[in-house]
Amino acid sequence: GVKKKEVNVLVVGLDNSGKSTIINHFKPPELKNHEIVPTVGFNVEKFKSKALAFTALDMSGQGRYRNLWEQYYKECDGIIFVIDSSDKLRFVVAKDELDLLLQHPELKDKRIPVLFFANKMDARDSVSSVKCSYLMGLETLRDKPWHICASNALTGDGLHEGVDWLTDQLK
Ligand code: GDP
Repeated sequence: GVKKKEVNVLVVGLDNSGKSTIINHFKPPELKNHEIVPTVGFNVEKFKSKALAFTALDMSGQGRYRNLWEQYYKECDGIIFVIDSSDKLRFVVAKDELDLLLQHPELKDKRIPVLFFANKMDARDSVSSVKCSYLMGLETLRDKPWHICASNALTGDGLHEGVDWLTDQLK
């Protein structure tokens, strides 16, 4: 048959939002870390699952690495933005990072799909995905197809629904 083209998915969000846990879920068994070390500093994780190549980047507290992210922006076909829906104190920080990301010259004119995970939906004080999209100002995001899914990366709830949407957009 025809070989599927490989697509690059950039997984971003603040530290501790659940990026590593999410991508670990899609890793083939031989690559799964049994212990996930919280991402600190400029940490890039890369692996391929079927037709998708995932690259995860931490966006918080590392302004000095920002210029290095550009190469990942250049080659990305889709974005997964992970939000910790229980981290009310940092919604505004996550929104700032999202705005910076979407305004980046490498991304602002590209009609690439953006999947949001309102992650940690199991946490006692988490907000709904609707509230999440409101707090992130997603109603103003009009030039890119986007979708938000509540997820629990610990159990995998919501993850496949989200990635299926993204995969559909990338066909
Ligand atoms: P990263 O820094 O964005 O890569 O975040 P991690 O994947 O390292 O997750 C940070 C912490 O949140 C870890 O202790 C995870 O076990 C935990 N975590 C991740 N996803 C969830 C979730 O959906 N629910 C809950 N309750 N905890 C989660």
